Amino acid sequence: MHFMPNELCNDRFETAAQTPLVDPYGRGVEYLRLSVTDRCDLRCVYCMAENMVFLPKKEMLTLEELDRLCASFIGLGVRKIRLTGGEPLVRRNVLWLIEQLGRHLESKTLDEVTLTTNGTQLVKYASALYEAGVRRINVSLDSLKPEKFQKITRWGEIDKVFAGIEAAQKAGLRVKINTVALKNVNQEELFDIVAWCAAQDLDLTFIEVMPMGALTAESDANMRFDQFWSLADLRTELESRYEIQDVPIRSAGPANYVRLRESGQKIGFITPMSHNFCESCNRVRITCTGRLYLCLGQEDSVDLRRPLRLSESNALLEQEIRQAIMQKPKGHDFIIEAEKDRPSVPRHMNVTGG
Ligand code: SAM
Ligand code: SF4
Repeated sequence: MHFMPNELCNDRFETAAQTPLVDPYGRGVEYLRLSVTDRCDLRCVYCMAENMVFLPKKEMLTLEELDRLCASFIGLGVRKIRLTGGEPLVRRNVLWLIEQLGRHLESKTLDEVTLTTNGTQLVKYASALYEAGVRRINVSLDSLKPEKFQKITRWGEIDKVFAGIEAAQKAGLRVKINTVALKNVNQEELFDIVAWCAAQDLDLTFIEVMPMGALTAESDANMRFDQFWSLADLRTELESRYEIQDVPIRSAGPANYVRLRESGQKIGFITPMSHNFCESCNRVRITCTGRLYLCLGQEDSVDLRRPLRLSESNALLEQEIRQAIMQKPKGHDFIIEAEKDRPSVPRHMNVTGG
């Protein structure tokens, strides 16, 4: 836990330091993932249906409201904020919000502002992100091949992502590549992706595909079943070429890490399906409409837009946040099964942002 005495702390933070956000299972909540929009310029096949119905624009929180929400969570002891989406960089004026969050970095009431992005807008935003205090970002990329990338994203242009990654590195941002492991889709690129990340000085994390949201008009369960590639199997494949050592570090996120002895490269594994990581979960998620989700893999949620709009003071909002944290479930129970006609969680990943 990070609740350090700090001469820059304001009164609210000192109050939070005495009573941090702790759920009924004793897990401190220090990490907020904020989906600033559910819109995106891509339509990755495992994430979204082709004809998505997005949240009504009139229900979306303004950037000022999102800023207020973040400030409340920071006041309650949150130390890390990740912006996500949808694609966070397609939200108009999102930079304003990131700059506001930068103030909390300066006052040391927040340790990190970061984002997960598909990388298509980074040429435009990389320098400004650095200026605002962002130091690390995650870029999602599942293939190095232009045609395959296009197929996975339905219409994306990989060159934009490559240019974005380069711009980010030039601006001084540390970049981690997030790759969803997709059986028979990017399986044959495993060694190429690993070698490319090493050559480009990029960190790398693999993620197991999760059954969130329906993907096609007909049942999508078999598609997810077909695509699911357990990271235990991916690791075995890696071991056919590299000597792998487990690295006993934990980040603020859910990844486990290994190191390739030959190159010294560190690789993360996020395994919600084959090994859930709920016992150390320190995070909650908020949608762009102000709905607080207490677990990525469960439907338990609380509306924070109502208390946010009911009062100009944050007291009611903070009270509702505290009550909500007491409803945080113990864990998720994702299952991907052949012939199962519904995803485990009905909402799509773009609503809460992973
Ligand atoms: N648009 C941004 C991006 O793609 O990085 C941020 C939002 S995206 C929903 C966040 C992460 O979730 C991405 O790394 C994406 O690959 C991952 N993701 C989306 N749907 C998923 C699913 N069904 N299972 C596992 N990961 C998923
Ligand atoms: Fe968009 Fe990210 Fe979902 Fe792909 S994974 S469709 S880039 S939100």
